[in-house]
Amino acid sequence: MNKQRVYAAVIGAGAAGMMCAVRAAEKHGDKSVMIIEKADRVGKKLLVTGNGRCNLSHLGASADSYHGDGSKELINILFKKYNDKTVTDCFRGLGLFTHADSEGRVYPLSNQASSVLDVLRKRIAELGIEEYCGAEITGIQKLSKGYEIVTPDRRIIADKLVIATGGRADHAGRESGSADILRMPGLSVTKLYPSLSPVKVKSDILRSLKGIRALARVSLIKDNKVIKSESGEVQFTDGALSGICVFNLSREANKGGCEIAVSLLPELDTDEIYTELSNRASRSKNAPISELFVGIFHKNIGIALLKTCGIKPSAPCSDISDKELKRISYTINNWRFKCEPNRDFNKAQVTAGGVKLSEIDHRTFESKKHRGLYIIGEALDIDGDCGGYNLQFAFASGMCAGDSL
Ligand SMILES: Cc1cc2nc3c(=O)[nH]c(=O)nc-3n(C[C@H](O)[C@H](O)[C@H](O)COP(=O)(O)OP(=O)(O)OC[C@H]3O[C@@H](n4cnc5c(N)ncnc54)[C@H](O)[C@@H]3O)c2cc1C
Repeated sequence: MNKQRVYAAVIGAGAAGMMCAVRAAEKHGDKSVMIIEKADRVGKKLLVTGNGRCNLSHLGASADSYHGDGSKELINILFKKYNDKTVTDCFRGLGLFTHADSEGRVYPLSNQASSVLDVLRKRIAELGIEEYCGAEITGIQKLSKGYEIVTPDRRIIADKLVIATGGRADHAGRESGSADILRMPGLSVTKLYPSLSPVKVKSDILRSLKGIRALARVSLIKDNKVIKSESGEVQFTDGALSGICVFNLSREANKGGCEIAVSLLPELDTDEIYTELSNRASRSKNAPISELFVGIFHKNIGIALLKTCGIKPSAPCSDISDKELKRISYTINNWRFKCEPNRDFNKAQVTAGGVKLSEIDHRTFESKKHRGLYIIGEALDIDGDCGGYNLQFAFASGMCAGDSL
């Protein structure tokens, strides 16, 4: 078995791990830094981010967009030094040109995620950082000085160890080994939930809406209270609601025991909708009720709404009662879907939960229990909204830990 001694070993060659290795090697030019990755190549996930465009940061990203116990405090400290500008400046230094869209989402100028990976890999090669890919870690031991990492063919002794193994799913349909790695040094890991994912809902009518999209406001309702609202495009799929606005509710919704209320005409109040619909109904008495929504919604949405209200879509408008019109008007802006518990990590962009933030030093990402051990990126109990916040955190935490090693 090969025995190898390095100054720093970074487990996980994702956004956080690669950035951390680069910063550590830049700081300690004469010391060896190594990245240990279980996949056959580094940075595979980066290539699928942002639909292949990699939304790597968000202008003005702040603690408001992050979740997890203690996440606000951590972000407030981290972003004082490593904010969106620091991250994009760092990438500019690596040779990457970026641009931001009207919403503040930062992308590579090429609009290709591969550009982000290319500049990181180029720097990794320039700095002589060893990429050890296809590595299956079977054990991690704390030594009197440093850590021993064991794989079937190597024993690596590292003065500093960084865990950057990301979330629970690897998006190839496999469970990531991330959770096992975190348990090896005895870190406390909170319960893991999929986040930024479609939300599974209990509904018979969704099948008829499969593939349809509608602009709406969506609100998460728990114990009759609105927990969070988002606006954007809702995508109806078989058995689930999807779209970025729904993703941003999924962190809580995936736990189940709550509802999503879809408002299809959020600019109008119920009385205004009622007036519009009753004018339409009295103008077209002989037309089927489903035609009430012509020019407003996709036909199938109108039919599904009527079914939800227990009204036959084929009946003529003259048959509709005032009470029924009021019910439809109310439902249009309060169309409720019961959320089902969802543990499908492979459809989620991030994992909520991870190593407790109280266990790490917020200024360095070093474990308070185990000196010389650092945990960064999605392996921690912190997750961001959709829009570049997760990569911003991965890169920023990687920079911070790398500079602290
Ligand atoms: C489809 C998709 C699109 C996304 N788009 C965006 C976006 O545009 N913007 C954004 O901000 N966020 C996006 N995200 C989220 C973002 O990709 C993650 O939050 C971010 O990559 C986390 O970085 P990380 O380095 O902590 O973990 P990862 O990027 O997950 O990297 C972890 C690495 O560790 C390796 N690893 C795991 N276990 C082990 C082990 N036992 N031994 C060795 N190696 C191991 C993994 O193979 C992986 O390479 C997206 C996620 C997905 C799935």
